[in-house]
Amino acid sequence: MNVSVRGRVLVADTIAAAGVEKLRQAVGVDVRTNIDARELLKVIGDYRGLVVRSRTKVMAEVVAAATKLDVVGRAGVGVDNIDLEACKRHGITVVNSPMAASVAVAELTLAFMLCLARRVPFADTRMKQGEWPKKQLKGVELDGKTLGLIAVGRIGSEVARRAIAFGMRVIAYDPYLSADEMRVRNVEPATLETVLSAVDYISVHTPLTDETHHMINAAAIDAMRDGVRILCAARGGVIDEAALLAGLESGKVAGAALDVFESEPPGASALVKHPHVITTAHIGAQTREAQDRAGVDVAAEVISALSGAELRWKVV
Ligand code: NAD
Repeated sequence: MNVSVRGRVLVADTIAAAGVEKLRQAVGVDVRTNIDARELLKVIGDYRGLVVRSRTKVMAEVVAAATKLDVVGRAGVGVDNIDLEACKRHGITVVNSPMAASVAVAELTLAFMLCLARRVPFADTRMKQGEWPKKQLKGVELDGKTLGLIAVGRIGSEVARRAIAFGMRVIAYDPYLSADEMRVRNVEPATLETVLSAVDYISVHTPLTDETHHMINAAAIDAMRDGVRILCAARGGVIDEAALLAGLESGKVAGAALDVFESEPPGASALVKHPHVITTAHIGAQTREAQDRAGVDVAAEVISALSGAELRWKVV
């Protein structure tokens, strides 16, 4: 073992083996992926580094007990399971691996769009019941349609590239990007009103913030084209689910595809069971490639933090 960084790192959630190996080449590592909250509190004082995914909660109590901790690494993007304020107060750096999942989430979004256009899950369910669902399944094509993106960050821009390859026109609303930057990301800049009212498909790629909470609500759906299809593989809460269900029931919304929910898991809710809704269990980042990338990226970032090197993905 070639330990060049002082101290030890606790890997508390499962990350890719390649990520653990990368850590081991630089620092002492303990992998305890079944550790519970009580045990974590007991041992965290021994570590300079902690690596988690979403299972382990790094809340104020853990931070207070983490007297030697310099860095928390989140393999993946969302840092909802880490008390960032507490980390900041205690001088603990938090890093993540935000690039790892972009392609995986973008590909899921394209899969959603194609499945909505051709009702593939519905067709498959009927076939498995011995039916031959042909007459009722006249679909639509993506070619020539307009996709409206709300947010063109890492994932939104990957979605744009792929949608263009399918012959779609892509317009987008992102108030934090300049018009020039949006063009570099292959989208036509537009106002929120235009994105809502002028497109066939709307795909949401914002974080969940006070500003984006229930951004897609009854008024927004009202402003959309009849027959719009809505997709969300971003964060639950950006879409007002009650408003979406009402839109589906009235026929205003032709279909919706959701990977994330206001409350997860949502159970067999009326929205999940709706025949024009496709759902998945927050699997956006769950590809082998994305998980490997997340583990390796976060390991590199934790080593950088422990050795005082420049950080690429510092959250706080
Ligand atoms: P990112 O930070 O690269 O991009 C977010 C974009 O949202 C930025 O361009 C920002 O300017 C824009 N934005 C912020 N507020 C906005 C607003 N009010 N209106 C319009 N745009 C706004 O993030 P990303 O990596 O592209 O991730 C996007 C979303 O996908 C996040 O919510 C993330 O948590 C989620 N995500 C989901 C999964 C999954 O498993 N389904 C996996 C990874 C990421």
